[in-house]
Formats: sequence, C-alpha cells, structure tokens
Amino acid sequence: MKDKKVKTPVISGKSIVQTFGETKVLNEIDLDIYDGDFTVIMGTSGSGKSTLLYCLSGMEQAAGGTIYCGDQTVTGASEKELTKLRADKFGFVFQKTHLVSNLTLYENIVMAGLIGSGFSENDVRERARQLAVQMNLQNAVDRLPSQVSGGEAQRAAVARAVMGNPAILFADEPTGALNKANTKEVLNLFTKLHEEGQTILLVTHDKEAALRGNRILYIEDGRVISELALSEYGKDRDTREKKLAEWLEGLGW
Ligand code: ADP
Ligand code: MG
Repeated sequence: MKDKKVKTPVISGKSIVQTFGETKVLNEIDLDIYDGDFTVIMGTSGSGKSTLLYCLSGMEQAAGGTIYCGDQTVTGASEKELTKLRADKFGFVFQKTHLVSNLTLYENIVMAGLIGSGFSENDVRERARQLAVQMNLQNAVDRLPSQVSGGEAQRAAVARAVMGNPAILFADEPTGALNKANTKEVLNLFTKLHEEGQTILLVTHDKEAALRGNRILYIEDGRVISELALSEYGKDRDTREKKLAEWLEGLGW
C-alpha cells in the first residue's frame, strides 16, 4: 500500500473567466491541478476544454480570475515571463504534432532540448536518445516526420514535450488524428509517463483516453460540473471502465 500523501497543486486557478466578444466561454472556474495526477478534462465539442487548457498554460490570457503556477502568476505575466514558464515548466502536445518536417524525429527532439535548457549539447543528445528508446522509437528516430506512422510522429512529439522535464505536460486531443492502434501506443506512453511521476493534464472526448486518468473533470458551458476519481489504470480495469461509463451516462454523454 502506498502512503496517502497530501497533494500539492502545480497549477491553481481561481475564478477563471474567458470571453470571446459577448460570449463567456469560461465561467468562473476554480481548479487545482495536483502534482503527480493524471487529470483529464472531458466535455462536448465547444464546451471550453481547449480554452481552459490554453488559459491555465498561459497560451491565452484569461479575461478574469487568477492562475498561479508555484510562486509565478500566469495571469498578468509578461510575454517574457510566460516564455520562461513554458520553457522551464510546461510541455505541450496537440492533435497535430507540429514537428519540423525537414528534420528527423531525433533532431526534432534534440532541438527542443537545445532551446532554452542549460544543458550541454552532449547531455541533450544523450537524453534525446534515452527518450527515443523509452518511447519505443528506435526504428523511426532517423526518419523524417513524413516517413513514419502517425503514432510514431506523435510519440516523438511527446518526447519533445518532456525533454525539459516539465512540471506539467499539457495535451489537447493528442490522439484525435490517430487510428486505433496508434492511439493505443500513444496512450500507453502517457500511462508510462504518469507511472513515472509525470503530472499530466489531458483534454479529450475519447473515453479510452479518459480511462488513463485518475481524476476526470467534466466541463459544460464553461463550468466544471462534475468530477470523478478513478483508481490507477491497470488495477480493476472493469470496475474503472464501468464507473466512467456510468458517470458519463449520468452527464448525458
Ligand atoms: P472545446 O475545446 O471544448 O471544443 P473550445 O475551448 O475550443 O472548446 O471553445 C469553446 C467556445 O469558445 C466555442 O464556442 C468556440 O467557438 C469559442 N472560441 C474558442 N476560441 C475562440 C476564439 N479565438 N475566438 C472566438 N471564439 C472562440
Ligand atoms: Mg478543443
């Protein structure tokens, strides 16, 4: 049995509001994302999932409320402070990989380590090599993004995102463009990173992806309307799956 530890928030949001024109897309959301958690945000299309992720990570400035990451305030931070925060503490994965098309997967991963990190090029190259092995990319790393499968490209994008040991890995529909087999590979990678202690915030409308989390939030019309705690993936799979399905059904999913 593991000790019950008091969880500390990596990111803390108070009364987050985002508006586009007249529309309130985020409606005074209070939300803490805890260290070591695999938090999932679910909700129908247009409910505000991506907007919440962008506000929490400072990619968009919220119109109201306060967001903290440790002793740094995300809301109201200067562009320079945000750039530093993203480089030092955040990793990002999106539906599209945004890999540089004329660089091999390996060089894409290396490049992320060379930008902004204090490590020597040798150390960066060594870490990139280790990550490539961890992500089971040995056979693909020396190819260009156009020469590998969608799953391999996305795993390289995940490797690139965690090069700088981020305090939190943000992922917005990372399997949205993948087939079933590739989705599973990428999700297995997220599970592995979580087991190794990586804090993850995943936005998805895929039940299979949500099942990997230990805390699932449901957002509707810019509000978090429900929350579900799940045991760790791998234990009592059937029970977890049933619990998630019933919860989603109750929410009219
Ligand atoms: P989700 O990720 O849950 O599908 P989003 O957060 O992308 O939803 O969008 C929530 C709502 O905000 C939608 O109605 C969308 O049209 C609107 N929205 C998102 N981004 C913008 C933007 N840059 N300008 C105007 N409206 C936006
Ligand atoms: Mg979205």
